[in-house]
Amino acid sequence: MRIAIIGAGMCGLTTAWNLQKKGHDVTIFEKESIPGGLASGFREPQWENYVEKFYHHWFKTDTALMQLMKELDLFPEVEFKKPTTVMFYNGKFYPFDSIPAAILYPGLGFGINKIRFGFIGLYLKLTKNWKSLEKFTAESWMTKYAGAAVYHSMWEPMMVGKFGEQYAHQVNMAWLWARIYSRTTQLGTYRGGMQSFFSAFTAKLRERGVNILFNSAIRSVSKNGEIDLIVETEDQTSHFDRVIITTSPKSFLDLVPEITGSYRDQLQSLKSIGAVVLVVSLKRPLSPKGYYWYNLPKNAGFPFLALVEHTNFVPSSKFHGETIIYAGDYLESEHEYFSLSERDLLQRFIPGFQKINPEFSADWILNCWKFSTYYAQPIPFLNHSANIPDVKTPIRGLYFASMSHIYPWDRGTNYSVELANHLSSVI
Ligand SMILES: Cc1cc2nc3c(=O)[nH]c(=O)nc-3n(C[C@H](O)[C@H](O)[C@H](O)COP(=O)(O)OP(=O)(O)OC[C@H]3O[C@@H](n4cnc5c(N)ncnc54)[C@H](O)[C@@H]3O)c2cc1C
Repeated sequence: MRIAIIGAGMCGLTTAWNLQKKGHDVTIFEKESIPGGLASGFREPQWENYVEKFYHHWFKTDTALMQLMKELDLFPEVEFKKPTTVMFYNGKFYPFDSIPAAILYPGLGFGINKIRFGFIGLYLKLTKNWKSLEKFTAESWMTKYAGAAVYHSMWEPMMVGKFGEQYAHQVNMAWLWARIYSRTTQLGTYRGGMQSFFSAFTAKLRERGVNILFNSAIRSVSKNGEIDLIVETEDQTSHFDRVIITTSPKSFLDLVPEITGSYRDQLQSLKSIGAVVLVVSLKRPLSPKGYYWYNLPKNAGFPFLALVEHTNFVPSSKFHGETIIYAGDYLESEHEYFSLSERDLLQRFIPGFQKINPEFSADWILNCWKFSTYYAQPIPFLNHSANIPDVKTPIRGLYFASMSHIYPWDRGTNYSVELANHLSSVI
């Protein structure tokens, strides 16, 4: 069959790989000049490695992705490390990435709260019954079983950081279960950065005859009779037997106005939140203690809720000795951070860097780059399994796969591979 895939992100590339192996004639249309989508990266001339535009790492439990790496013969390039994650308590940061560190963390005291935190964590690591958990919000379930003190100090900051005040209290417990159940403290990346992986992946696809067209934004997909689908770019119209769209639900509906009825209503009812991230290169490390991932509670007054010192995961020697940090937030599309210039956003963020390290001075800054997306994190409300759209659309031969199809797991490249495997088997 002649198959078109719209999007060269993890889902589109993996679907292309699977379908080409089955002998299909596959063409990928990608609007950007590089592959990787949300996990893509960039590189300054003096750097050896790429930096992801949005902070990315993998987990030891990312089995679908690791299986794909093995199949592609790229697994030896995956590196796992154990960088330090810290929690903020009373103006100070405390490591929280091992059992001894958790025992020493003062934010929960040393009595019943710590015991409840430990038991609930253990229960969630062992149970697989997520379906019963989606009936409760994470807030109500955690408050009932782990206690309000544990929820407010341990989980609420992460929920607010991910979903904002508006949605954090409505997210279901199955989503929080999935994060606790599936995540590891060992984090992985690709030698050279994830963009190097996407380059290697596209090279393998091309070797096998997959046609990959960059700078090719699709304008529309339409039906021509029962079995023919028309894909249009600005200057080209092509015909296919099957078309797979891997964009956000909103873009999907814009591309296919012919989709009406309950499928359109279902996609329109899905909610998601955007993200704004500033990547900053510095002359010196920000964290005096080598911390990688900072959990920042909203009430601590930082101008961002995500702070990641990338060079405490991948050494600064890969970036010509520069320190690379990410500062950002998950935000609604109308938030002013989306429209601020990178220099203005940097000015807003500098006091936050000084709070992390009082010695920080603006003359440590070498450069900064702003990245944003309106579609960064789907929001799983109560009983969300009923809202997950089918990959098969009402138009025969047209399929749709996005981060909004991933559930109860938190969206991530591993689950894009799983989704692509499912989609390929359906096709
Ligand atoms: C802030 C942030 C942090 C994240 N952290 C992690 C992490 O640590 N680990 C992890 O595994 N995952 C992480 N993720 C999630 C991960 O990036 C996604 O799950 C994954 O990249 C989604 O892949 P995809 O192929 O479904 O979509 P995308 O990557 O969005 O790919 C879709 C592609 O379609 C293209 N496209 C869109 N419209 C058109 C059009 N009209 N014509 C042609 N092409 C088009 C886009 O340019 C894009 O390349 C993070 C995401 C964000 C936003």
